[in-house]
Formats: sequence, structure tokens, C-alpha cells
Amino acid sequence: MNRHLYDEEALMKDYPLVARTAHPEGTVIPVGSAAIGGENLTLIAGPCAVESREQLFATAAAVKAAGATILRGGTYKPRTSPYAFAGLGEEGLRLLAEAGREFQLPTVSEITDAALLPQFEEIDILQVGARNMQNYTLLQALGRQPKPVLLKRGLAATYEEWLASAEYILREGNPHVILCERGIRSYQSGTRATLDLAAIPVMQGLTHLPVLVDPSHAAGRSELVLPLALAAAAAGADGLMVEVHDRPACALSDGGQSLTCRQFQELTKAVAAILPHAWRPEDL
Ligand code: PEP
Ligand code: MN
Repeated sequence: MNRHLYDEEALMKDYPLVARTAHPEGTVIPVGSAAIGGENLTLIAGPCAVESREQLFATAAAVKAAGATILRGGTYKPRTSPYAFAGLGEEGLRLLAEAGREFQLPTVSEITDAALLPQFEEIDILQVGARNMQNYTLLQALGRQPKPVLLKRGLAATYEEWLASAEYILREGNPHVILCERGIRSYQSGTRATLDLAAIPVMQGLTHLPVLVDPSHAAGRSELVLPLALAAAAAGADGLMVEVHDRPACALSDGGQSLTCRQFQELTKAVAAILPHAWRPEDL
């Protein structure tokens, strides 16, 4: 592999644990029946927020049938407006764990405070949301527990800041960090965020950690999710995280960017078709 684009010595000095040189072959993170990184394209899908047993189970059954390997569902939702639906909390986590068992899917949910860790006991992957990417005490606490951490990129975080946040977690002893690009702030207004596709090959060159893409929060509009997902898969993403709802029009959060179950099924087929042609980090 040719990594002349990057100064390996400087990387190893600032990010000794996450730098690609520290683990050249790339980290593969086992999560129950799934594995994130390596040759796998991991498909994480599910609702923005767990809203009810009916909603979650209908969506989980559909995403499982379509080929998703991990079930997502927010239960503690950081919302811009203090008046917006903020999730079902502990009850939502209980439902998510139950759906995971029912459909044999590992689960991921966002944790906003280390004090909530006991409530996440039955959740397989702990998500750090974009707004908390630089919450260093949260990162350190998650570094001192054994579950994989899905670290979303901050809304305006540079690659270096994102790497440093991952380093915070590894430094405390937890080697299982998954990065997730979800779009960054820019001057345009036609989409919710600007998906930074270059983040995929750049971060894969800088670090051995898997790099996923969340096209849903980047797009903000359901009709843009498929093209962004295809572009991310073609650019070598290690996986996708997609919001799916059994009835997007009734969603309590992010309905406008949520795919229907059928749309998600079409997405998985389209992504599978381009995978043989996708760029891979070995090409660096
Ligand atoms: C989410 O994935 O549920 C979420 C809130 O995303 P982000 O933190 O990227 O805005
Ligand atoms: Mn959402």
C-alpha cells in the first residue's frame, strides 16, 4: 500500500493508537453475528427513534429481510428544539434489545451521558452522536468499557479532530471504534448537510478503524439517500447506516429523510450491484 499522501511519522506522534501504521491491516470489529471492517459492507438500518413496539418490530422485520445486519434506533435523542420528541429513553432501549433478540440483529443506539451506561447493558454498540464528538469525558468513559463505539463525525469537525476523538477512546483501553461520516456544515441549503465523500478514502488512509457513512442525516431528504448511499459504497465505505421507518409520514423524528421498508430493500439491491466495482483502501 502506498501511503505517501500522509506523513506517517507525524500521525504516529499525534495519534499513536488510531494511526494506520499502528495496525496496517485494518481493524475488524466483531459484533454478534456481524463484523465491521475488512471485506464486509455492514448495513445498519432502523428508525431514527424507537417510537413504539409496533413501529420498531415492523421496521426491524423489514430491514432484516432486506439484508441489514445491525438494527439502529434512537432512544435518547439530542434534538435542536427542546420541545421536539426526545425519545422513549429506557423503555426504548428495552424495546430495541427485545427486537434485536427477536430478529437476531445486534443493536446500536446513541448514548448521551456516561451515567446512562447501565441502561445500555443489552445494547451491542454505543453511538456517540455528532453533537457529542468532542464530549471528552463521555469518550473517556466509553473507552473504559468493552462495547464497540460508533463515533459520528461532528457537524464541523476536521479529520484531525475526529481522529483525536477516536484516540481518546482507544487511549482508555477500548480498541473497537467505528467512524461514521454523516455530512458536515457548508454554505449550501438544498440538503441538510454536505456529505464529505472524500472522508472515506482519506480517513481509511489515516487510520485502521472502519469508516461508515450515514447518507440519511447528510441528505435530510429521502429521495437523496439512495444516490448518496451508492456513492459512499463506490468510494469504499465499510458500511452504511440508513434511517428506515415503516410509515415515514408518521415518524416523530426525521420522517423526511427516512426510507420506507420497500425503498430500503431497493437500496440494498442497488448497493450490492455496485460493490464488485467499489474502490477499496488497498488501492491507496
Ligand atoms: C442519529 O444517528 O440518530 C443522529 C442523531 O445522528 P447525528 O448525531 O449524526 O446527527
Ligand atoms: Mn435521525
